[in-house]
Amino acid sequence: MLSERAGKIKSSPTLAIDAKAKSIKEAGVDIVNFGAGEPDFDTPDNIKEAAIKAIKDGFTKYTAVGGIDALKDAIIEKLKKDNNLDYKREEIIVSCGAKHSLYNIAQALFSPGDEVLIPSPYWVTYPEQVILNDAIPVFIKTYESDSFMVKPESIESHITQKTKALILNSPSNPTGLTYDRKNLEQIAEIVLKHNIYVISDEIYEKLIYDGLEHVSIASLDNSVKKKTIVVNGLSKSHAMTGWRIGFAAGPEEIIKAMTDIQSQSTSNPTSISQKAAIEALTGPQDFIKTMLDEFDRRRNFLVNELNSIPGVTCLTPGGAFYAFPNTSFFYGKKTDNYKISSSNDLSMYLLEKANVAMVHGAAFGDDSYMRLSYATSINEIKKGVERIKGALNRLS
Ligand code: PMP
Ligand code: GLU
Repeated sequence: MLSERAGKIKSSPTLAIDAKAKSIKEAGVDIVNFGAGEPDFDTPDNIKEAAIKAIKDGFTKYTAVGGIDALKDAIIEKLKKDNNLDYKREEIIVSCGAKHSLYNIAQALFSPGDEVLIPSPYWVTYPEQVILNDAIPVFIKTYESDSFMVKPESIESHITQKTKALILNSPSNPTGLTYDRKNLEQIAEIVLKHNIYVISDEIYEKLIYDGLEHVSIASLDNSVKKKTIVVNGLSKSHAMTGWRIGFAAGPEEIIKAMTDIQSQSTSNPTSISQKAAIEALTGPQDFIKTMLDEFDRRRNFLVNELNSIPGVTCLTPGGAFYAFPNTSFFYGKKTDNYKISSSNDLSMYLLEKANVAMVHGAAFGDDSYMRLSYATSINEIKKGVERIKGALNRLS
């Protein structure tokens, strides 16, 4: 008999769809995978070399639980340089991916019955981690007409005596929404007024387009910083998803609790990956620009193509590498044996009949949409879009 907790948790649908698409591809089917939540670029060579050196030097033992000092220092430097934030080592923890940092935060902060505000659409993992801690996810619906921006008054109207924290994700997965300084100032005002925490997931910080500026809410002023835990990592910025390095910066008391929790679960993140992470943060950064230029090209192409399909509307995402088109026009339509009533039906239809994989919007809390990752080559995107057009055309 499994625990009550195990019965409450759903596995990650984004990882599941990506795994399914990859296994169909391995079986020899020519599938276009828009499901991937990871850069299709290889980790830069200088980072790989640093890992190889770590192995050769025998840096293969346990390290300090929350990361080695040299990596914490590199993170402190990065937060200073990129985000104008000052932290000391005791305010930093390195974990096995940003997902793990978020998990540690949830464990350190949420008690049973606590309410955690999550603007919706949201990244799939947030509500599950809240639920894993017997806390309650409270969704705040956002709208395409507001570019999916959460309005400060909506935050305020969802706050109760039990509200513990707000999870903010900018740039956002899945919408690409990127908050500007003014939006963040308004949100910060509410947060301070009600004395709740902000968990600020900034993992897509480096993947930002059209000259937009990434602003960390923690950098607005010291009172906001004291209520914020900043989460970031190297998975997206340096194409290092498999290396499992993420980090969090926040008040010492919270970081200490997270480190204690980590000491009883995973212990340190991989020693070799930590050395690679130092090189990623302190070595040449030109790789990011190359990757970003390519993502930008694909973004423009994909969004234009999606908007050219009758019935589809798609905002231009300001950040990350996902397009989030509204596909609700097709619900209620049918063809052959398929009746499309939801984003899930549509993703199944496109997978089975058009060999195109993407993630249904319902996984992110909004059934009207689909998420397409453009972390795949422009040729694949062209091929995928043609297939989508053909398959949608057959629905009536
Ligand atoms: N936050 C968001 C919004 C993400 O999309 C991801 C990607 N999985 C993560 C956090 C976690 O990334 P990782 O655990 O690979 O650092
Ligand atoms: N963040 C990625 C995504 O949303 C990776 C998958 C996951 O970790 O759930 O697809």
